[in-house]
Amino acid sequence: MGIEQQPDWQKVVEFHGHVCPGLAIGYRLAKAALMALGYENPEDGDLVTIAESDRCTIDPFQIVLGCTMGKGKLHMNVTGKQAFTVGCRKKGLAVRVVQLPHEYSAESDALTKKVMSGKASDVEYRMFKKERENRIQEILTMPDAALLKVETVASVLPEKETIYNSPCCAYCGEQVMEPWTRLRDGKISCIQCAVTANR
Ligand SMILES: [Zn+2]
Ligand SMILES: [Zn+2]
Repeated sequence: MGIEQQPDWQKVVEFHGHVCPGLAIGYRLAKAALMALGYENPEDGDLVTIAESDRCTIDPFQIVLGCTMGKGKLHMNVTGKQAFTVGCRKKGLAVRVVQLPHEYSAESDALTKKVMSGKASDVEYRMFKKERENRIQEILTMPDAALLKVETVASVLPEKETIYNSPCCAYCGEQVMEPWTRLRDGKISCIQCAVTANR
């Protein structure tokens, strides 16, 4: 079965809303991390992801590994690299997966810029789409060793999600979790109300 028929790839595409090279890379990285940690089913692992990128590549980590923002299993440490550390609390293991350098040709770069600026002709746009499709295919079928590296890292996992008290802001009456409260004239304030007072 090709990757495109895999149910988890289909779920990723549905969640992300389009197919793009970044999504394909994220998918391969997430799967490589899962394999390196020795799991077939991500739910067995109680996994946590620390993402160094907030672009398309991040979504497969939410869907394939179940490391969603809302569950407190996705932490951001943006460095501008296509790199993700995935930790497993159960095994006390963590791996960092990184995309290996890839450069598009100068022509292909110029074409992308033209399309992004909205000045491409129909022919150029079709060429761009074809190139992109080829690149996505390439990413989905390339061997791991040509696409990415996996390194074992000392397990530095964020703490389990903490439950906070949520007092009401004395100014707008809305509830706010304690770490985000401020003091304004000696009273508990939310960030918005505290900022307004400083203007
Ligand atoms: Zn995308
Ligand atoms: Zn307020």
